[in-house]
Amino acid sequence: MRIPFIAGNWKMYKTKKEALEFAESFKQLYKDTDIRAAICAPFTQLEILVEAFEGTGIGVGAQNVHFEDEGAFTGEISVAMLKEIGVDYCIVGHSERRQYFAETDETVNFKLKKLLTDSEIRPILCVGETLPQREARREKEIVATQIRNAFDGITGEQAEQVVVAYEPIWAIGTGKTASPEQAEEMCALIRKVIEELYDEDVCDKVIIQYGGSVKPENATEIMNMDEIDGALVGGSSLIPSKFMDIINF
Ligand code: PGA
Repeated sequence: MRIPFIAGNWKMYKTKKEALEFAESFKQLYKDTDIRAAICAPFTQLEILVEAFEGTGIGVGAQNVHFEDEGAFTGEISVAMLKEIGVDYCIVGHSERRQYFAETDETVNFKLKKLLTDSEIRPILCVGETLPQREARREKEIVATQIRNAFDGITGEQAEQVVVAYEPIWAIGTGKTASPEQAEEMCALIRKVIEELYDEDVCDKVIIQYGGSVKPENATEIMNMDEIDGALVGGSSLIPSKFMDIINF
């Protein structure tokens, strides 16, 4: 019942010219695909991607947003600004933002609420534990807390719109993937916490992705797990054919 959803996270890669080249070739490859796909690109490339992917079914996402309407927040972008250019998704709380840009569970929660209240932009909420946390066997407690804090004050109807990406930090950009069983166990835990916060109906609808060194070679075994509905793909989303191979898992 949940449609698989594969999102690319370009991070700080691709100029406008490179983004357009990607779009032209990816559009051709994606034709007639019924798996949902999106590209989360740097802010300056969003508008041209929205235009390039119009009518193709390929979504476009931002990688961050601010939770205030407007104000003296140098370097920030508001929900209204994203809405204006027709963005479909927005990554919230990526571990790189938590780590380097002081994103906290509280700001993640504010951003989710703002997106869900003021727009139809679907948040891709990232959660995940560090290596020391996993080694201390605290991964379940850490991720369950991140989920509870992120969804605080969000209604069941709004929660259904959230895509959750479980991304163990030790697997991001390291070439180390969580085993399908490890990923499945954590995605099942996330669904259970969402069920506790809401009900079975809501948790059945929430799309849960795995992220962390997903590549064509491991996409099938990850995507075949029951609780994993998709993937958030960094490095392997930069090349159209590679990203398409993951979508065709
Ligand atoms: P990776 O990144 O696929 O390059 O590990 C995933 C992510 O950070 O979303």
